[in-house]
Amino acid sequence: MSLLLEQLSLCELEARLGARGTTYKSALLFPKCLLLGLMAMTAVATGVLAENPSAPAMELMVDETQAARRIAFVHEELAVRPGALALAYPRWIPGEHGPTGPIQQLAVIRIHSGTVTLPWTRDPEDIYTIHVDVPPGTDRITVDFDTLMENTISDHQLLLAWNTVVLYPLNIDKVRLMIEPSILLPPNWKAGGSLRVTSQSGSRVNFAPVSLERLIDSPVLAGEFFRTVPLASAWPAELDITGDSQAALDKADDAQAFALFGQLVDQDRAMFGFRHWQTLHLLVSQSAAAGPLDGLEHEDSPYTAVGDAGLAQKGQLEKLGWMLLAHEQSHSWDGKYRRPAELYSKPNYQGPERTSLLWVYEGLNEYVGMLLGTRSGFNDAAYMRDYLGRIAADFANEPGRAFTPLVDTATEDWILRPFDVGWFSLRRGQDYYDEGALIWLRVDTILRQQSRDRLSLDDFLRSFFGQRDTEPIVVPYTREDIEAALSAICPYDWHTFFETRIYRVNDQPPTEGVEAAGWRLVYNATPNREFFDSELLPLSYNGLYSIGMSVKKDGTIFDVLPGTPAYEAGLGPDMKILAVDGQAYSGDVLNASIAHPRDGKISLAVRNFDTVASREIRYAGGVRYPHLDRIPGTQDYLSEILQPRK
Ligand SMILES: [Zn+2]
Repeated sequence: MSLLLEQLSLCELEARLGARGTTYKSALLFPKCLLLGLMAMTAVATGVLAENPSAPAMELMVDETQAARRIAFVHEELAVRPGALALAYPRWIPGEHGPTGPIQQLAVIRIHSGTVTLPWTRDPEDIYTIHVDVPPGTDRITVDFDTLMENTISDHQLLLAWNTVVLYPLNIDKVRLMIEPSILLPPNWKAGGSLRVTSQSGSRVNFAPVSLERLIDSPVLAGEFFRTVPLASAWPAELDITGDSQAALDKADDAQAFALFGQLVDQDRAMFGFRHWQTLHLLVSQSAAAGPLDGLEHEDSPYTAVGDAGLAQKGQLEKLGWMLLAHEQSHSWDGKYRRPAELYSKPNYQGPERTSLLWVYEGLNEYVGMLLGTRSGFNDAAYMRDYLGRIAADFANEPGRAFTPLVDTATEDWILRPFDVGWFSLRRGQDYYDEGALIWLRVDTILRQQSRDRLSLDDFLRSFFGQRDTEPIVVPYTREDIEAALSAICPYDWHTFFETRIYRVNDQPPTEGVEAAGWRLVYNATPNREFFDSELLPLSYNGLYSIGMSVKKDGTIFDVLPGTPAYEAGLGPDMKILAVDGQAYSGDVLNASIAHPRDGKISLAVRNFDTVASREIRYAGGVRYPHLDRIPGTQDYLSEILQPRK
């Protein structure tokens, strides 16, 4: 493939562009007399390739000055050769595990060669691709478009996810295509992230060229109220945080959040031993406007959203610390550096990818997040035991597991993302996360038992996910690699172990890990603590473990478990409970009736569509919630597992 590489000074370039009367904002692209290495690319039927991986092949400028209005203006300059050119909008987004690139937010596409508008057409079989004919004699084109409704957090903050603001030549290698990015911020905003800043002029920030892959893995967190906090950790790490007020940033000191993050990075070091970055940038936005449980892993700049002044609230840190903050950053090892080969499409982002190994990528990382969250002090062992009891009970009472193997929840993961759906227990949710975690707890105890306490899962994590110090790269793996690596540190029939628990239907409750760790699932009248999912789906009553039904705040039934008293009473999702034993519905009223049923039954008035009917639940078992109890005379592995490492 031929390739033309030329060095132009900015002044020469501006002269050329000016002569062609480039479209608006093009002047913003080129700060005065900055030497640009521009690569003319070969655009032929087989693609566009960069032979010199260090030279930028594309300039990409994102104008976020109107972020509060939920619109970003994108301007690209790319060198081309005459002929057919296909431009792609990223479809399979790393960390989202699905074809979720927000193509519907791409609008007002304008492609020019100088002053000449080039018509484009969308590929009818792949709506993420647009085609343009580059006319004879053309060596550069500009591509302008708007990205709508993405990246805005609030009036005061944004998170620029580069995959939402790039159209790239389809036939390139994402590791080799070099892009020189820049961002124009609202006045007086500051930005943070792992991209290296080369210059800043007013509100414009210019970054050093990076590959398309590194760009998409390097979001920019920006805000009017922005603070960088170096962490007191053995590895270089910093918190980049935003808030909707200066007070939200300053209050984070009160809850000792910064100390917790420092301890988290130190526990990473003790667990994995090696890192795949120079400096870890932990991006955290704080805003009431952000959706609950928002976060996305990145190799050296994981992102998490918490509520307004969330870092100042110990309750929020306890509830979200392991599930979001610890979880997203441990993906740097499990998910970013090591990634399932089938979930790492090449050469671009258009897929297709396969998601069946999410029981490792997410399930193991869920377990790792639990360990790191408790080891670093976001919560304590009692809190994590309560959560393990809750999820063990959820799966033990899930009828769908008798028909659907766990791996299927990974294979179809992205259609299971909606959480608030009826008959949840029949369809199964994204069970590869939490049931995966319980299975990895069993792996941990097997390693400990088989080695007579010489080994633990930490040894596997270090050898498979730590490996060595490197720059950010991706090292793919297969299921066979996982099983071989486990066998290398502890001979065992790992293939059959995973086959029977993940790849085949397993209707047994997944409690063997908990039991091997010295604890057992019990039920009593003490409600569980509040976990992260209370932010996602606030319930007024969780009676799944008693009458077999959970209810939302407004009395609408969320789910009913087949075979339980609520199911036998004819109840189903989306019906609305109006009254319980003659009293207007509330969680407390329902709880009182379950605790003291009259004649062994609970009477409900229930609205369904346009009818209101009476329903009777026959139940006398009292209030029940799941917890873990010690198994007398056994080794308490779980407490050892949750202990901080030196
Ligand atoms: Zn995850």
